[in-house]
Amino acid sequence: MKIPKTALPAVLALLPLLAFSLSEEVRVDATMVAKIREEGLQRSQVMDIVGYMTDVLGPRLTLSEGMKKAQAWAKEKMEKLGLVNVAVEPFMDYGAAWDNEYFSLHMLEPDYQYMMGFPLAYTPGTKGKITCQAVLAEIQTKKDLEKYKGKLKGAAILASPLVPIDLAALPQGFSRRTDEELKRLEETVVPPAPRAAPRAPANPDAVRPEEKIAFFKAEGAAVVLQCDGGSFGIVRGFGRPGVNEDKWSREKDLASMPIAEVTPEHYNRMVRILRRGIPVKIEIEIRNRIGETVEKACNVVGEIPGTDLKDEVVMMGAHFDSWHGSPGATDDAGGCAVALEAARILKAVGAAPRRTIRVAFWGGEEQGIHGSREYVLKHFGDPRDPKKGVTPEYEKFSVYFNQDYGAGAFRGVNLQGNEFVRPIFAAWMAPFRDMGLTALPIQSVGSTDHVSFDRVNLPGFQFLQDRVGIGGHANMDFYDTLVPEDLMKNAVIMASFAYHAAMSDARIPRKTLVAK
Ligand SMILES: [Zn+2]
Repeated sequence: MKIPKTALPAVLALLPLLAFSLSEEVRVDATMVAKIREEGLQRSQVMDIVGYMTDVLGPRLTLSEGMKKAQAWAKEKMEKLGLVNVAVEPFMDYGAAWDNEYFSLHMLEPDYQYMMGFPLAYTPGTKGKITCQAVLAEIQTKKDLEKYKGKLKGAAILASPLVPIDLAALPQGFSRRTDEELKRLEETVVPPAPRAAPRAPANPDAVRPEEKIAFFKAEGAAVVLQCDGGSFGIVRGFGRPGVNEDKWSREKDLASMPIAEVTPEHYNRMVRILRRGIPVKIEIEIRNRIGETVEKACNVVGEIPGTDLKDEVVMMGAHFDSWHGSPGATDDAGGCAVALEAARILKAVGAAPRRTIRVAFWGGEEQGIHGSREYVLKHFGDPRDPKKGVTPEYEKFSVYFNQDYGAGAFRGVNLQGNEFVRPIFAAWMAPFRDMGLTALPIQSVGSTDHVSFDRVNLPGFQFLQDRVGIGGHANMDFYDTLVPEDLMKNAVIMASFAYHAAMSDARIPRKTLVAK
């Protein structure tokens, strides 16, 4: 079979078939593609949607007040766009809510310097505004602990070594995939074996991050300052050490100590001054709100109802939660805006899909892909888990599409090891060659919500994307780093893929189920 490589066929492209079943053809509805392109490229609302999410709503740490407010908005917005069965759906007993309400850090001596940073999530605040001396404490092994015993009382600990800044990365932040790169990806026809992360043998003398914080606290230190990233002007920060293991426990939050991440330039300045033997005095105030009880974290879902196959489902989505240092524009408000805009486009062009199209804004992705995993297990089950088994919805599921590799343009679809979908996606991609959507590498990619589907052998795909933005988990992931044209194209492609998946005679074929 040959997929046309040039222009869009005039009315309806009937391609001879390879997948689905041996008797079906891969249809591309050229009229609907034209309507979707016109609506999504000439009357796009994707930047308005993502602008509200990032500028007005702001950071959306799972279960934070910010996230709850954002989820309430998402529900209302989905309803306004005409989606039905919209719900803020709890997925697990999560832990205590946590919000940063205020942060201020300054070097007072030997020179005044305002400092950029933010607290680690799930840590307590300072006791009001405090001033203290900075002390460099580089601890790797248990022997190092001895050196600092009795010397840290009331101090601001500088806990990281000097952080080299990657100057080569300075002019980047926008990297289109080259033709060679796409070709290389496609030429890797044998899926590489999954790589087990090389594990260094545990050093019995090493001090774990939790132990380090416990030591600083026992020594009476006032606050810990650290720097985990070496990018120009960027502060990267997650949660306190151990928080995933203790399940966002209020008691453990309170028992920890104030910890803040600082931008490398400001952090390094303090380290270099201290290395000259000159004292550094800082002023810091952190106010965090820690929830009183264990609460349920939620996803937000909404649907365009199907017609004759309405019990069958096609899904598209992205994670709505972000880290707390910035509004997570590329990670992953952009993905959510694309999925919602795709749904808006389909409503606007009057699509009446045969299968139900469901949009999902996941929660808890950043802490371990919890929202989508729990959703999939609850709604669809797991065929490889004899205790769980599958639900009636499992058979009726067709496919899930995800955007979460930044907010860059779609350049193809990672096939996730599924050879059966290749001819189908090739046909659906044909009308978007002009947008650079060409590649179908067999590779499996990880670390985001399509994995929750793939893990139970349901078709779940993450698009292959250009790299745009500064990356997530940082202080500068704002609206400004989004590329409007990329998001507009992505929404159009997402809408067309969801539509064609919802209209085809058969559901999207699955990989052969092999025992784990
Ligand atoms: Zn993400």
